[in-house]
Amino acid sequence: MRLLIMGAPGTGKGTYAEGIEKHFGIPHISTGEIFREAISQKTPLGILAQSFIDDGHLVPDDVTVQIVRERIQQPDCQNGFVLDGFPRTLNQAENFTRILKELNIQLDLVINLLADEELIIRRITNRRLCSKCGKGYNLITIPPKKEGICDDCGGAIYQRKDDSEEVIRERLEVYHRQTKPLIDYYEAQGNIIHMDGAGEINEVTNVIIAMLEAR
Ligand code: AMP
Repeated sequence: MRLLIMGAPGTGKGTYAEGIEKHFGIPHISTGEIFREAISQKTPLGILAQSFIDDGHLVPDDVTVQIVRERIQQPDCQNGFVLDGFPRTLNQAENFTRILKELNIQLDLVINLLADEELIIRRITNRRLCSKCGKGYNLITIPPKKEGICDDCGGAIYQRKDDSEEVIRERLEVYHRQTKPLIDYYEAQGNIIHMDGAGEINEVTNVIIAMLEAR
């Protein structure tokens, strides 16, 4: 099963992609997470990506497309993948279509998550992540059992630098300008489904899984 999860920042892409990964055993590939990992290891990719990410802007398309091209050819992607946060521009989407064609792979479905902006801002400013395993938390809805410590691996919990209110507003602006037009692109391909990302996390995850199983 090959899936894309799209939606504005804070609609829950990463959380629901994690649920899909666990349930169907296909890898969750987050371009944002790949960049964050590179930044923490101070690799050349991380150094390049950091300034774009910190300002709420997109990392250049050629870099991003190349990363995804390589990642989806790894052995763990043989039975599928769920891509979260890619593509984010029309140019990335067109390149991705071309890559899939070259690799003789078919995209099964694009899930577009919807949520209102007030909820998005509330979600993002309360969002926290584990620095070790990447597990996501929310200080209001899913806080860690022990403050500042990951329930699963004991890693330290942190807030992303680009999750400040100022940067979120810029990221939302970038989403409307550059990523939202992709909805029309995938509508034209006839393989997009729109889902409400705003509900309680487990409920939304179950709805998405049931929808995928019924296909
Ligand atoms: P995310 O974790 O998906 O919210 O991504 C965090 C940040 O990483 C974004 O705000 C962008 O700066 C960068 N990023 C992630 N995915 C992409 C992409 N497909 N194209 C360009 N930049 C990206």
